[in-house]
Amino acid sequence: MTLDEILEEVKKASSIVILTHETPDGDAIGTALATKLALEKIDKNADVIMSKYARTFDFLPRCNEILTEGKQEKYDLAISVDCATFKRLDNREYFENAKRTIVIDHHGSNNMYGDINYVNPVSPACSEVLLGILSYFGVEVDVDMGTCLMTGIITDTGGFQYPATTADTFEYAAELLRKGVNISDICKKTLQTKTKANFELSKIVMDRMEILENGKVAFSYITTKDMEDVNAEEGDHEGLVNIGRNIEGVEVSIFIRQRDNEDAYKVSMRSGEYVNVSDVCLMFGGGGHPRAAGALVQGNVEEVKEKLLKEVRKYLK
Ligand code: 5GP
Ligand code: MN
Repeated sequence: MTLDEILEEVKKASSIVILTHETPDGDAIGTALATKLALEKIDKNADVIMSKYARTFDFLPRCNEILTEGKQEKYDLAISVDCATFKRLDNREYFENAKRTIVIDHHGSNNMYGDINYVNPVSPACSEVLLGILSYFGVEVDVDMGTCLMTGIITDTGGFQYPATTADTFEYAAELLRKGVNISDICKKTLQTKTKANFELSKIVMDRMEILENGKVAFSYITTKDMEDVNAEEGDHEGLVNIGRNIEGVEVSIFIRQRDNEDAYKVSMRSGEYVNVSDVCLMFGGGGHPRAAGALVQGNVEEVKEKLLKEVRKYLK
């Protein structure tokens, strides 16, 4: 059984590093920190490495211990969480240099790039996958670990709203709530509170919003200059793609943001009921989930928009 192999690897390793995808979201950070805390329960120390993360997540227990580079070049074991492909992994040199590698994820588009891969594509969050692993091993989840894990679940399910939310999700949430995890506070900090820059960017996104394809597609964008104008920091673009998705009749919301003044845009795509946006994004070398996916596409705003629309049209009813 894969999980027993994972435990064997963990026991053998005397140095462990935990990595996740670039521009980490709540699920990435929550799962990474919870993995570190869980390993401590079996007397294993692990380093969590991330180049940068949004200050929204500064409330998470032990986030002050997140490193920007490793304490050593070669670790015995590297664990990747919430990351579908090696290409998307932040600080991937530590993964490449590790003696053994484990991938824990919930993306259907995961291409199994580890020595051991534990991927559950029907799980709404990688945090929920980790909760399943911890319950298999009978690891006691304390309030700190529970706070990290609930943050992953809440951010990846939009506060239990997205269709990928399962009965298990609510059962895990009920269990953690009874233990004292403050779910309401996590929702407030991660879903409701907006930074000023995010609010300013929302206004720009709304102003530029185009409703296309007989009302089925919403499109908007921000440039590097917009982000500079509002003093945007890491993570300030989060949630902007939802503005289009929430408009009546819209099946696909496309939001693109410019990368470093280049002719390249990071795409965020969401769908309502039937378009598999992960398939659409795979066409551009990206991926994700059926209702939430992304990719990096070359070109200026008009070019990127046309490339994406051409692909999306094929899926519209
Ligand atoms: P977001 O739009 O929130 O950045 O990403 C939505 C989903 O798509 C997330 O699950 C994220 O991991 C995935 N995703 C975003 N960009 C990429 C990409 O360039 N490649 C792959 N494989 N997945 C992506
Ligand atoms: Mn996730």
